[in-house]
Amino acid sequence: MQGIINTAKELIDRYNIGESIKIMEVCGSHTMAISKYGLRQILPPNIKLISGPGCPVCVTAQNEIDASISLASQGVTIATFGDLVRVPGNNSSLQEERAKGRNVRVFYSPLDALDYAIANPSKEVVFIGIGFETTIPSVALTIKEAYTKKIKNYSVYCLHKTMPKALEALVVNGSDIQGFLLPGHVAAITGSTIYNFLVDKYKIGGVVSGFEASDILMSVVMILKNLRDPKIEIQYKRVVKEEGNTDAQSLIEEVFEESDAEWRGLGMIEGSGLKIREKYSEYDAEKKFNIKKPNSSTEIKGCRCGDVLKGIITPKQCPLFGKACTPLNPVGPCMVSSEGSCAAYYKYGE
Ligand code: SF4
Repeated sequence: MQGIINTAKELIDRYNIGESIKIMEVCGSHTMAISKYGLRQILPPNIKLISGPGCPVCVTAQNEIDASISLASQGVTIATFGDLVRVPGNNSSLQEERAKGRNVRVFYSPLDALDYAIANPSKEVVFIGIGFETTIPSVALTIKEAYTKKIKNYSVYCLHKTMPKALEALVVNGSDIQGFLLPGHVAAITGSTIYNFLVDKYKIGGVVSGFEASDILMSVVMILKNLRDPKIEIQYKRVVKEEGNTDAQSLIEEVFEESDAEWRGLGMIEGSGLKIREKYSEYDAEKKFNIKKPNSSTEIKGCRCGDVLKGIITPKQCPLFGKACTPLNPVGPCMVSSEGSCAAYYKYGE
């Protein structure tokens, strides 16, 4: 491993043109790995790795959090991934609702939530569907199975988001990013060609990267090497194919269709989310429970998560970082989530 890292460092020095270069690591798992291995400190000072909007819990809009909390108070069983329960809403959190006796359950897989619904037919179970293309196929599978087996007490509150339009929104809104470290797990499903627009329209390259220190450093080398002739390339070839996983893509396509989505910090982005197709509408919790999101998201007072997610500031530039906001007492989702930038910077002392 050390040999690969040394080679990567030599190559980075060879291709380093000395200009200030900003590379965005889009994915929360990359942020964690970069902090864990201390990679920001290894790079020359002119090459900056900045965090992006790839943490699913962090980008879930505040009004979506509030609507989920409100749903818990209606007597349904909320099924969700662990980190989401700790995200503060404007007046409560799912964790606080659970302490008040509401039925809020954490599952590692959406299929476990469906199994729970099947085993408890008297309970209405709503799975809070957050996440990107990595988790979307498994949620689609639960909806398809519930439909096939005629399960009537399971539905999904679909808050899923998709990555390309969010990256485009960042670029269009004037970020000075010169390259993207693209999420390996997302690309395992989507393939890499969905990012070609970054080169074709904006002349910005990117590399689909793995998650080991050597993967990330080699991806940085590839970005630097192609700065003058940007490309979309795959470093994580042991997992990602250019065309992605076509079975998973078909499953997503069958159950969901494109819709607009609201992102924390980035606002409403056209075509950056999914909604459940009409065929499966009885599994759409938004329709089933007539969920009304508050019209606009009021951000948590003092929390700069939105700016962290856009790469405008680093977590340490938030005045609350490490003071009022710590993993034990998180103020915002970027400190709650195990993929959040603030949590990564705090945990590894960056
Ligand atoms: Fe929000 Fe806390 Fe991060 Fe500041 S340190 S941006 S308050 S999560």
